[in-house]
Amino acid sequence: MTEVLVAGGTVVTVDDESTIYEDGAVLVADDEIQDVGPTAELESKYDADETVDATGQVVIPGLINLHVHSGFIRGLAEDMPVWEWLVEHVDPTHRALRREDARAAYELCYAEMAKAGITCTLDMYRYMEEAAEVVDDYGLRAVLSPYVADRDGFEYFPSVQDNVDLVERHHDTADGRVKVWFGLEHIEYCTEAAYRRVADLAAEYGVGIHTHGEESPKKAQELTDRYGMRPIEVFEDWGILGPKTVVAHCVWLTNREIEALAETDTSVAHCPTSNEKLASGVAPVPKLLNHGVPVGLGTDGIKENNRLDVIQEMKNAALLQKVHRLDARAIPGEQALRMATMGGARALGLDDEIGSIEAGKQADLVLLDFQQPHLSPHFGAENVVPNLVHAAMPSDVETVFVAGDRVVDDGDFLHGDQDAIIENYDEKAKALVERRDDEEWA
Ligand SMILES: [Zn+2]
Repeated sequence: MTEVLVAGGTVVTVDDESTIYEDGAVLVADDEIQDVGPTAELESKYDADETVDATGQVVIPGLINLHVHSGFIRGLAEDMPVWEWLVEHVDPTHRALRREDARAAYELCYAEMAKAGITCTLDMYRYMEEAAEVVDDYGLRAVLSPYVADRDGFEYFPSVQDNVDLVERHHDTADGRVKVWFGLEHIEYCTEAAYRRVADLAAEYGVGIHTHGEESPKKAQELTDRYGMRPIEVFEDWGILGPKTVVAHCVWLTNREIEALAETDTSVAHCPTSNEKLASGVAPVPKLLNHGVPVGLGTDGIKENNRLDVIQEMKNAALLQKVHRLDARAIPGEQALRMATMGGARALGLDDEIGSIEAGKQADLVLLDFQQPHLSPHFGAENVVPNLVHAAMPSDVETVFVAGDRVVDDGDFLHGDQDAIIENYDEKAKALVERRDDEEWA
């Protein structure tokens, strides 16, 4: 057993009591957290093989990105409402996408996320066998849920059977760091039959389901007119809701829909930056939390954000509610941090393993350098969380551990050559866009 003592930092545990150790330490034994507490106490108790000096740093649990699409077209489909943008840009890009492009996207997006302190991701994209390999190689943690679609015209998306194959081959691989769920793009892409079949299959395989709820008020109304009930009630009717289901966005909800989510213990992936950028609206997050609905934070893809940065999502989740409700007390920093860690972990059914710094959990830790002008002054427990949520940036991330393994050190991504990843991605992106624009799609 190898023991590493991370010592001398401000440890923000996000445990049930929101404990913060101002001169704190975490003892990592192989892939697990063995102990957490004051540095002096842990130093006297253990004789670790290695000590990581975290003086001037803040130690937090690995951030969880509860909704992302690895991909391309960052900055290339801007200033458009969601359904226009989907039809004009996203779907044609999907048609032109090849396996090697998807691989390049995974390499870039996972490196970007690792460097931003994101240790676990719920990703919805295509050719996800490639994602399983990249996540394993990079030493990260992810739940993979392919973009399944079965309506006419979307034959280039994976099928339900493709998703079954992915579950059988890759669920619970990479020492448990890779999980596979069922993914369903959206009601406009998937039939009722696909939703119902996935509900059965998810139960059979004991895995979860990820899909999109409504972002735009127009689409929510259209679906309500079509089905004679609200979108979340449609999901309820089709058997999709449950404790292992994560629905992204859920911006437009009636009280009845919120109750349906709460009664079934369904989770919501809140994506504030995406909702702002696509002018979708403001999700009723405080109401969801008051009803006990697990809420985590998602960046959504680089096409709708444009940064895979959960620190930014914490800030935007807070600001969006404050300004929308004209209530400066809405979503305090502590609540934003909890959504980005324990909220995501609970949504993924991994709250016994990740989401907080507690003995027995996996050693997914992020160390941020707080010796920076924009993170000063240092009042310890008094202002560390607000500064983390409202002032910190991905570039402050110094070291990242996933399952006790260092994946970022000194701000550098360790498990891949960053320059080569960017070069390959750029090349693939240019060829993809060219192919998309050249081809006549029937
Ligand atoms: Zn999405």
